[in-house]
Amino acid sequence: MLNIVLFGAPGSGKGTQSAKLIDNYGLYHISTGELLRDHIARGTELGRTADKYISQGQLIPDDLMIRILDDVLDREAAGKEGVVFDGFPRTIPQAEALTGLLRKRGSDLHAVIGLEVPEDELVQRMLARGRETGRADDNAETIKNRLDVYHKQTMPLRDYYTKAGKYHGVNGSGIVDEIFRDIADRLEKHVGVRPKK
Ligand code: AMP
Repeated sequence: MLNIVLFGAPGSGKGTQSAKLIDNYGLYHISTGELLRDHIARGTELGRTADKYISQGQLIPDDLMIRILDDVLDREAAGKEGVVFDGFPRTIPQAEALTGLLRKRGSDLHAVIGLEVPEDELVQRMLARGRETGRADDNAETIKNRLDVYHKQTMPLRDYYTKAGKYHGVNGSGIVDEIFRDIADRLEKHVGVRPKK
């Protein structure tokens, strides 16, 4: 199995690069944000709980998020060649849990790819996405909260995974295909895998 975390601030392009990773490496995509938005759209109980946090730009509590991920790994990722984790982990407890969740399935995390994008560009990208897609948390006030939360709760993961020798930062500004080529180079160099196509 090849398990990759795509790491980066909100608006850094995790969704776009995930799509290319799953397409080129035959991996299964788990986006915790998309999963929660799907629950909100379907009006489930989890969706109602998640909406309270998402609309404020806050994180869903770790224990709930970890249970959801455990469940998705059982139901959907079993038997797949590997997973691209997009938007998870976002805290140190989530990162520790991920190690355990993969280990109990006889697997491991192979690489964390960090998409590094200047903050003013992140804001512009999210505002544009909000206008184009109507995504509810892409408004100026919630974006500010999401970036604060990112700095306080998620950014420490960069050091955490650097110390573990798993973090590989790439420049996330510029042309989508060039960013992807950079990611593919890192995966070949550090993990020894190549795209299937
Ligand atoms: P995203 O689509 O990854 O930007 O996520 C949108 C929102 O979903 C975030 O701002 C959080 O409120 C929530 N969310 C997504 N992933 C997580 C996670 N791993 N832990 C806690 N909250 C999350």
